[in-house]
Amino acid sequence: MHLPAGGGPYYNAVMPVKKPAATKRPARKPKSPKPLPAEAVRTVFARLHAIDPEPKGELEHVNPYTLLVAVALSAQATDAGVNKATRPLFAKVTTPQEMVALGEDALRDAIKTIGLFRNKAKNVIALSKALIENHAGEVPADREALEKLPGVGRKTANVVLNMAFGMPTMAVDTHVFRVSNRLPLAPGKTPAAVERGLDKVVPKEFGLHAHHWLILHGRYVCKARKPECWRCPVADLCRFEPKTPAPGRPAVKPEATAV
Ligand code: SF4
Repeated sequence: MHLPAGGGPYYNAVMPVKKPAATKRPARKPKSPKPLPAEAVRTVFARLHAIDPEPKGELEHVNPYTLLVAVALSAQATDAGVNKATRPLFAKVTTPQEMVALGEDALRDAIKTIGLFRNKAKNVIALSKALIENHAGEVPADREALEKLPGVGRKTANVVLNMAFGMPTMAVDTHVFRVSNRLPLAPGKTPAAVERGLDKVVPKEFGLHAHHWLILHGRYVCKARKPECWRCPVADLCRFEPKTPAPGRPAVKPEATAV
């Protein structure tokens, strides 16, 4: 059959017009639940406080300087892994002067079991030198000064300000980020957004320990892959779905939420 270029009207008349394949509607994104009201937020922290009135960070240290070093080493590493390396290190090195005297090669060797150890060793030596040169060997109780130190970001500064200087800062790590989004306390797409949200909603009296409670809750109960909702002390307040049932129990009402 001769057809005019492009088919033309004849072609369209005799040839069945192919219907475009039915496109699947994209799955609707599950709605994010609304943040908890202020009273529920207070109840969450009151319960976490009742369980553990004085929560402690799990990074071992002997003074603000070793805390700063331990936190700087903990990026993308577990606290247990950092402690294993720093325990023998902090038995002989507890000041920036001693760290500089130890030197980068020996430090690298001491922390070689920790991820990114080469870069971290370089930063720890550089930040120790900066502390000696600019702060008389002391850790400054000042966010801006801390964040100027090599390898020290906002999260590290927040942890040091909180644990060494008793300031009610919200250090948002992976656990704090997840728990804040799941309950939700302070939903946000970035750690900075979650930090800003927590700063607004955490009642003053819980400010000092809030980030530790959230870290511990996220690490041991509200775990990333499978939150242990059946033994969660705030499950009745939490808006995350589906909740994980107790082992051996069927799941209840699977309404997926975004986080
Ligand atoms: S109920 Fe489940 S999802 Fe909600 S905070 Fe507790 S462990 Fe996390």
